[in-house]
Amino acid sequence: MKDLIERMTGWRRDLHRHPEFGFEEQRTARFVADTLRDMGLDVAEGIGGTGVVATLQRGTSNRAIALRADMDALRITETTESEWASTSPGTMHACGHDGHTSCLLGAARILAQEGGFDGTVRFIFQPAEEWGQGAQAMIDDGLIDRFPFDEIYGLHNMPGLPVGHVQTRPGAIMSAEDIFEIELTGLGGHASRPHAGREVMTPACALVLELQTIVSRRVDPGDIAVVSVTELLTDGVRNALPGKARVMGDARSFRPEVSALIEAEMRRIASGIALGHGVEAHVTYSREFVPLLNDPELATAFGEAAAQVSAAVDANAPAITASEDFARFLAHVRGCFAFFGNGEDSAPLHNPGYDFNDASLLHGACLHVEIARQRLSERSV
Ligand SMILES: [Zn+2]
Ligand SMILES: [Zn+2]
Repeated sequence: MKDLIERMTGWRRDLHRHPEFGFEEQRTARFVADTLRDMGLDVAEGIGGTGVVATLQRGTSNRAIALRADMDALRITETTESEWASTSPGTMHACGHDGHTSCLLGAARILAQEGGFDGTVRFIFQPAEEWGQGAQAMIDDGLIDRFPFDEIYGLHNMPGLPVGHVQTRPGAIMSAEDIFEIELTGLGGHASRPHAGREVMTPACALVLELQTIVSRRVDPGDIAVVSVTELLTDGVRNALPGKARVMGDARSFRPEVSALIEAEMRRIASGIALGHGVEAHVTYSREFVPLLNDPELATAFGEAAAQVSAAVDANAPAITASEDFARFLAHVRGCFAFFGNGEDSAPLHNPGYDFNDASLLHGACLHVEIARQRLSERSV
């Protein structure tokens, strides 16, 4: 085990030094593919761009389980100054996908060396999770037809949760993400003569406030939803009123009906405010991530498997309003997504001071191994 932990730590720090943005994971994918080939697995590269799929088969069962990790980094400048800090300026593994990749490589090594299952394990290393594009790219490239599997499991590290702890839940665990941009067009002019034009700063500010009423006044209090305005940009300057403003942001929800309601209310509010102020509004609304829906039976199975290798498991943890590309796989095959602790001292995800906690590498690997062995049990009929 000590040898494996050292190896995984080496892989993780090497990946951390060389982060690559979504669909640019050439070095990472080569590293993953070479490492898996060295373990004796069948490896296919270039699935959905830079995706890698490896297959390990034992026994006679025709059941197959997929285990998935993500490989991409973020356009964030690292501030950790660790020995293994990013050597690629402006890019860093600030979401721990270096750790996820290393955990799954570790699981592949354990399963390749020790077996303990009857059937096929597919190891899926996906590109471009942060964009919400990589899973669909692999699916569109024939992932499921070429490398069929009956169930799929994925993990994400969780800052704040102690190392060795696991959280999952049946049903909706992570939200959809929609993004929006509302462009207001009026007539800019001299700051001293607002009456001579149709400035858009005042309606833009009214719009920002009014959008807050979608969740507080329109969405059923029993539903979870978030509408966040994150940017307000204008073409004004200190002494000139803007004639154009863009209000941008992001919305989260767990049901398509709620997402549709948010969009409809946003369009209604934008056109009402535009009418009231005598300006034009144009709304662009798009759906980037779908909600992540765990299969209830498999969430229970995952919780039981996790309990074998974890200090604590909460199999009915609260859902969170972040989003995950793993959800795309679940539109085709049932599965379960879960969180494992990155430690109470961990910086938050997407923070320039974040680092994956190497103390949780073995836990992550063992979670993958345990669920694969449980679901491909040699004793099952
Ligand atoms: Zn992320
Ligand atoms: Zn992530």
